[in-house]
Amino acid sequence: MHTLTKERFRYGKGITLIDDSGKEYLDGVSGTFNLSLGYNHPHVVAKVQEQVGNLAHMSSSFTEPYVEEVLDHLIQYAPNGIDAGWMRDITGSTANECAVKLAQKYTGATDIISLHLSHHGQTQFATGISGNAFRRKNFPNSTAANSLHVPAPYCYRCPFNSSPDKCGHHCIDAISDAIEYASSGSVACMIIEPILGNGGNIIPPAGYFKRLRQLCDEHGMILIADEVQTGIGRTGYMFASELFDIQPDIITLAKGLGGIGVPVAAVLMQSRLDVLEKHEHSFTSGSNLISVTAAKSTLEVVTEPGFLEAVRSKGSLLGSLLTEMADKHDCIGEARGVGLMWGLEIVDEDDAPDAVKSNGIIDRAFEEQQLILRGSRYGYGNVVKVRPSLTATEDEIVEIVKRLDAVLSTIH
Ligand code: PMP
Repeated sequence: MHTLTKERFRYGKGITLIDDSGKEYLDGVSGTFNLSLGYNHPHVVAKVQEQVGNLAHMSSSFTEPYVEEVLDHLIQYAPNGIDAGWMRDITGSTANECAVKLAQKYTGATDIISLHLSHHGQTQFATGISGNAFRRKNFPNSTAANSLHVPAPYCYRCPFNSSPDKCGHHCIDAISDAIEYASSGSVACMIIEPILGNGGNIIPPAGYFKRLRQLCDEHGMILIADEVQTGIGRTGYMFASELFDIQPDIITLAKGLGGIGVPVAAVLMQSRLDVLEKHEHSFTSGSNLISVTAAKSTLEVVTEPGFLEAVRSKGSLLGSLLTEMADKHDCIGEARGVGLMWGLEIVDEDDAPDAVKSNGIIDRAFEEQQLILRGSRYGYGNVVKVRPSLTATEDEIVEIVKRLDAVLSTIH
């Protein structure tokens, strides 16, 4: 198992972690892909501290005015038709459960389609709808009832052996088949990650989301975009749905919404789907004021003029540096990504996924106090993630790639 350090990290500053002995580690993966604004963004820290002093928690019966502010702000940036929302969750897992409940209650249908290699969370149900089969290994009953997994649009390793220039969109045909043969005869929703994050930074081919939308319309299925990783500026846009023109009916958010790592989630939807009673989905800590304030102040930063443009420009820099680096190292089959969400496909001599090498790279980087790359025990386990905070400077991005390049030069 990949363990990091016995040292205790004492401070986080910008995108750097500092341990007890004063050693500094440059974090290339923004914590757990969630520190959209780094470790200690002053605006979010100040607002959260103030809120903790004033009123950290009250019954969610009274939090609506606070929640409304955040939702209104998010909805301004959301794809057409998304005009309502909820903040009853503090994790992405239960936000996804909320989205599925909305879809099931609205449609009256039961089945849920998701992608092989997808990750939608770690509660029993979220694990069940995720396409990461090995996470269910020791929990034989945790495949959610009526959950159907279809092949991922993983063009580098096309499950149908097509090459990208001759893509037959068989992965969409597989969705049609799943709908046709659904055990209940009725599919409530399909849940997708715009970029399969943990599964390997997999970006579906052009046209995929358009066909998916058509399928959903034809079959009265709700399309849920799990933007827990891709949302809040990660791709250079507030939502990846905007970048890929996805047009989902429901969007789930968590991770980056908390800015400096404060747990918070949101579910955005078309108001026709706003069908759950409060008692059907609520938690003690849902819409607590620390979380809601973190979300509000994070959005204030991310929507500052020029912020997202800067992310796009830093994303182009990161992309070109990683692509250049990939050309130098045979163990990188492909560097792929968008904005500040990149992955390196680590391969062996036969181009097969090389999870051992990928873990070696991660460990080596850490030993050298080089960028902290959280390992992938997802998908084929071979994709090394590079996802700095949105506030990383250009110099830090250059440094992250420089250090990674040095590590790769030692890996054979
Ligand atoms: N969806 C996606 C795409 C995720 O990456 C994750 C977490 N890695 C989740 C859902 C679950 O979020 P949480 O850990 O906050 O429950």
